[in-house]
Amino acid sequence: MERNHEIVIIGAGFAGLSLAKKLIKANFEVLLIDKNNYHTFQPLLYQVATGGLEPSNIAYPIRRIFREEKNIRLLMAEVQEILPSENKIKTSLGEVGYRHLIIATGSTNNFFNFEPIKEYFLPLKSVPDALKIKAHIVNNLERLNMQDETAIDELMNIAVIGAGPAGVEIAGILAEMKHKVLPKDYPEFDFDRMNIYLFEAKDKVLPVMSEKSSTYSLKYLQELGVDVLLGTMVKDFDERKIMLESGESYYCNTVIWTAGVKGAPVNGLEQELIDRGNRILVNKFNQVLPYQNIYAIGDVAAHYDTENPRGLPMLAQVAIQQGSHLAKNLINLRQGKTLVPFAYQDKGVMATVGKNKAVVELPKLKLQGFIAWFIWMFVHLLALIGFRNRIITVIDWIQNYANYDRPLSAIFRRYEN
Ligand SMILES: Cc1cc2nc3c(=O)[nH]c(=O)nc-3n(C[C@H](O)[C@H](O)[C@H](O)COP(=O)(O)OP(=O)(O)OC[C@H]3O[C@@H](n4cnc5c(N)ncnc54)[C@H](O)[C@@H]3O)c2cc1C
Repeated sequence: MERNHEIVIIGAGFAGLSLAKKLIKANFEVLLIDKNNYHTFQPLLYQVATGGLEPSNIAYPIRRIFREEKNIRLLMAEVQEILPSENKIKTSLGEVGYRHLIIATGSTNNFFNFEPIKEYFLPLKSVPDALKIKAHIVNNLERLNMQDETAIDELMNIAVIGAGPAGVEIAGILAEMKHKVLPKDYPEFDFDRMNIYLFEAKDKVLPVMSEKSSTYSLKYLQELGVDVLLGTMVKDFDERKIMLESGESYYCNTVIWTAGVKGAPVNGLEQELIDRGNRILVNKFNQVLPYQNIYAIGDVAAHYDTENPRGLPMLAQVAIQQGSHLAKNLINLRQGKTLVPFAYQDKGVMATVGKNKAVVELPKLKLQGFIAWFIWMFVHLLALIGFRNRIITVIDWIQNYANYDRPLSAIFRRYEN
């Protein structure tokens, strides 16, 4: 492994996989490194957190993806530092040399000023996070029997901080479960007492989408009984209650954090190459200058252009397109041709709020309700890796659709990222 590899890619997320698949087809010799031995389909994490899907539906072993390929080596290791002057990286399993290095390490949670109390929050960024949320909720429900009145509110209520797509999706499904699933599993409790809060500092849900989609999503959430608190700044949380800047407080032990992410760069690059969002500054070819042979793609790359003065959004499509574009540029380089600048093709954004309720924004069309929900399902199903995963996911979704029967109850403890 220590020898010089032609191409070293750090991260087998959407960006790293899209790049690696194209490069091996063009006969490049690739080393793909990831700290996990699986690829995570993050858009469906909330379904694992709420028992709708099993982890194996959305976490696909990297080795299986490249089973038939000869030009790729895989290494499960954490990359700890880049040594640009030596064209080397340090990993948890030793040093590796490269001719071209591609950083595709994605993003991580940003807790802003809540960093000192982040352990109290439940983030939703990985499969272990999703399993932890599920176990936490079930564990609280199992403890309900022996509690006094205030503790019942603490254990039953669930708060979600951040009304972006992930926050809206998980709040919506939790509200559905409160009405349709939990009363069947815990008939002895009165679920009218359970509150699902959604706190958002901005004055709308889904701030990244249009006014129309935002209004529809708010309506859907309210129909499901989610308590949406807009323009609300959370000030503190002590594991028993959430305190707001306004002075109000809400009893609640389960607080799901979807309010922010930041880039997850690897150590070793100069500080001036990292932007405010902790992302690596790249030029229009995704190069990390002054290093001609280091590139960053996906969530970790801060790609600014005139159309995106705040940088490209952290979306799976951006990551996939950057991976595929960089592959073409590396082929160009090998052929002595000039590099082509990256231009993002916006294919749209979407979010689902519950059964038959979704909002979809395509470049020329905005849709809501059942059709949007159907498109959302279809697009996510196609994007899953593996035929077997798609079939099992369809079966699970049909079952959930027909009888809302999510198997939430088994508690598995201790999940580490
Ligand atoms: C809950 C949730 C819902 C989302 N929903 C949507 C959605 O509906 N639509 C959408 O477009 N986007 C969605 N996103 C965003 C989307 O998932 C990201 O934009 C996308 O995953 C970025 O791809 P990436 O390849 O840059 O990073 P990732 O997919 O995060 O991959 C990064 C990889 O790098 C590895 N890695 C990180 N650091 C190291 C290291 N030091 N050493 C070795 N390996 C390392 C990680 O293990 C990981 O496999 C969602 C994200 C979340 C968290």
